[in-house]
Amino acid sequence: MPTGTGKTAAMMSILTSMQFADPSMGRIIYCTRTVAEMEKALLELKMVIDYRIKEIEKEKQQQQQQQQQGQQQGQQQGQQQLQQQPRAPTEAPLLGKKMRDAGYILGVGLSARRSLCANSAVLRSGEREKIDEGCRKRTAPWVRQDVLDRRHARHTFSCSSSNGSSSSSNGSSSSSSNGVEGEGAANGTSTTAADSSAATSAEAAAAQAAAAAAATDIEDIGTGDTPDGLCAFYENFDEYFAPQHFPAGVYTLEELKAAAVRWRHPLLQRSLPLCPYFLARRLLQVANVVVLNYQYLIDPKVSEAAVFGPSGAGGGGPLGSYPGGPHLVGFSRTAAQERLYQRNQKQQQQQQPDQQQQQQQQDDWIAAADIGASVVVFDEAHNIDNVCIEALSVHLNKNTLDQAIKNLTELSEDIKRRKAQDSERLRAEYQQLLQGMQLQQQRRREQQLQLQEQQQQQSQDSSQPQQQQQQQQSQQLQRVTVTPETFQALANPVLPSDVVEEATPGSIRRAEHFVALMRPLEVTDLEKLLPLTLVADFCTLVGTYWDGFIVIVDPYPEASGLHDPLLQLCCLDASLAMQPVLQRFKSVILTSGTISPLELYPKILSFVPLIAESFPVSMERACFCPMIVARGADQVPLTSKFEYRHDVSVLRNYANLLLDLCKSVPDGLVCFFPSYAYMETAMSYWYENGFLAQVLEHKLVFLETKDVVTTTLALYNFKKACDCGRGAVFFSVARGKVAEGVDFDRHFGRCVVLFGIPFQYALSRVLKARLDFLRERYQIQESEFLTFDAMRQAAQCVGRVIRSKRDFALMIFADARFSRVDKRSKLPPWITRYLDPTNMALNTETAVRHKP
Ligand code: SF4
Repeated sequence: MPTGTGKTAAMMSILTSMQFADPSMGRIIYCTRTVAEMEKALLELKMVIDYRIKEIEKEKQQQQQQQQQGQQQGQQQGQQQLQQQPRAPTEAPLLGKKMRDAGYILGVGLSARRSLCANSAVLRSGEREKIDEGCRKRTAPWVRQDVLDRRHARHTFSCSSSNGSSSSSNGSSSSSSNGVEGEGAANGTSTTAADSSAATSAEAAAAQAAAAAAATDIEDIGTGDTPDGLCAFYENFDEYFAPQHFPAGVYTLEELKAAAVRWRHPLLQRSLPLCPYFLARRLLQVANVVVLNYQYLIDPKVSEAAVFGPSGAGGGGPLGSYPGGPHLVGFSRTAAQERLYQRNQKQQQQQQPDQQQQQQQQDDWIAAADIGASVVVFDEAHNIDNVCIEALSVHLNKNTLDQAIKNLTELSEDIKRRKAQDSERLRAEYQQLLQGMQLQQQRRREQQLQLQEQQQQQSQDSSQPQQQQQQQQSQQLQRVTVTPETFQALANPVLPSDVVEEATPGSIRRAEHFVALMRPLEVTDLEKLLPLTLVADFCTLVGTYWDGFIVIVDPYPEASGLHDPLLQLCCLDASLAMQPVLQRFKSVILTSGTISPLELYPKILSFVPLIAESFPVSMERACFCPMIVARGADQVPLTSKFEYRHDVSVLRNYANLLLDLCKSVPDGLVCFFPSYAYMETAMSYWYENGFLAQVLEHKLVFLETKDVVTTTLALYNFKKACDCGRGAVFFSVARGKVAEGVDFDRHFGRCVVLFGIPFQYALSRVLKARLDFLRERYQIQESEFLTFDAMRQAAQCVGRVIRSKRDFALMIFADARFSRVDKRSKLPPWITRYLDPTNMALNTETAVRHKP
């Protein structure tokens, strides 16, 4: 079924209801391709959950009413209450057990820093890479450690001055920031504080004074940076945030950003703006529903551990203290900060003893909530095989290799320089990291053994009821899942276990050695090292897989046609990236409006589906009309076959069809070509023969190009032309950015035309290799796969104009080959159902008739 007909809402309803009924089913991971789709999915989830909350509230009120009626007391008052409309509680409960009773969940999405960062000083740079770099410069552990050391030194100096002279220096110390004074007081006086209660109370007083000073500074965030150049949002997050202090609910990215910046600590009763990006990453670990980009699950190069890793990894450091390697280089709270925080909490709890129990319950819930995921949904999964293949393919050209060599030279020079400067520190850090990794592996093995033993013991104990056994097993698995070591073990599904278990080299996903190298070298600008990373990925993949790949050297790449040798490591087997996902999660759901034919996906992804179902669309009216235009007015067949690409009669007939449509269709018209090359050919011919000039009399013309910025501008102006009533036509390319991610809903798309069938470029070496592989491995014939691929692209293109039940549009398939059953039958049922037999082989004249 097409978009806008309720797929996501239906999916969210059923999954969240199942989760509500059986919390042991775990987290729901909903994967989307774009940020816009992520926002839409979160909005639909919010709608579903809001409804649920209202219904639960209503039920509670009715139960209350029945109780009151049963007691035969206050009958009149009860009736009045019954008449009241049920309302959702205005304030969401905090994350924890209570939220479930009221029907709340935690639903969050994750996007890049560019979308979530709240620090205006960082956002000012505008570019994504610069924002990432700006953030790393403020949050990298070595940067923060340096700042903390400086603060400590300042504080020690300040303390020694005040001890020696007057009380006026106390005033100056209170103007320092971020509670480091507390740390300094605690650490700096360790010789006396150990056995002296007077010193301890002095330390506590100093720490409290420092905390008060810190509070003032942290709340007054300004541009987002602290006076010594750290990110105040991150410092708050690191210092104060705990999931159980965050309100439940479903947050879109914007809402999460607003909630983070407005966050108020419920125990400390202070406003403490948090970093939305790191908040999102932390909340993902305890969320009931997580909305993510495909890449997090499919691409082994994306560090999934950075997203789903436990918060307490790395000795208590918050998740994501260092982007990309939270377990290894997490910056833990200093001992003094920890003591100060615990003391504050203790005081709060003593003041409010009833909160203690509540706190304990919430802590239990956090432990229980971190249970991993069991249901994964891939939305818009019609291209999932291509996503899998891209995730495991690497392309290198000469420029990349040159840059990688430059990266290597710079890194080795840096290492030499640092060795000379600080060889002891480097060695110590390296040893520390190595030991850490070995320890993790040892723990992982121990846990696995322990789990096996426990399972054996359970299976022997036949007296236990089966249900109870299953429950216990599930609890044990949950317990295991929350540990950092087990998580890391699960974090790399792609590489064989013997590679994962090896101490060296580290896996791609965990990238331990890369991170291990980055930390001592204190590299924050990771983008600069991208060429070297690509080469490393290339080598790792070559060294890891022995089947399902091909290396192709192309001296004249198809895209440019110029001499620019390209070294391509092409993955041919989509199941390689998909298999780990299928193995790890209990249920995997693939859904799309254009996932047709259903039978082919299990073959190319190598799985056996439990259920494969195609649902018809129920519409109040036929809101779209598919038509196949097979011939021109001169009866010449319309086709985009390669040998007819320059046939003027075909191009002329296409031009006539376009012209007729421009005269008849109001507002927006969208046209798709099979390739950029064919679009250029057609546009040149139409321009030279005056067809475009005629089109311009009726509508403005805009084109998609390979440049994203130009295309975005063209789209903006296209929509503007439609909005102001001038009308416009947008020429685009199947498989392009527009075909995959842009909606032409409402008046932006009253008609969509496919000039030809979007077959892939048959002479491509990569495609040929993949076709050979599919034939040999899965017995899928070339023509079968090519037709399947072309038809899903065609369905994707025409589906751009129906984005809700309110939309209506013409769908014109302008190629004689669409009339053949073998092609037509591969279109999704929601299109073929509305394809009238009289509209299956029209010519350009009968397709568009003008009223006199
Ligand atoms: S820590 Fe958060 S708010 Fe601060 S710069 Fe990084 S992404 Fe932005």
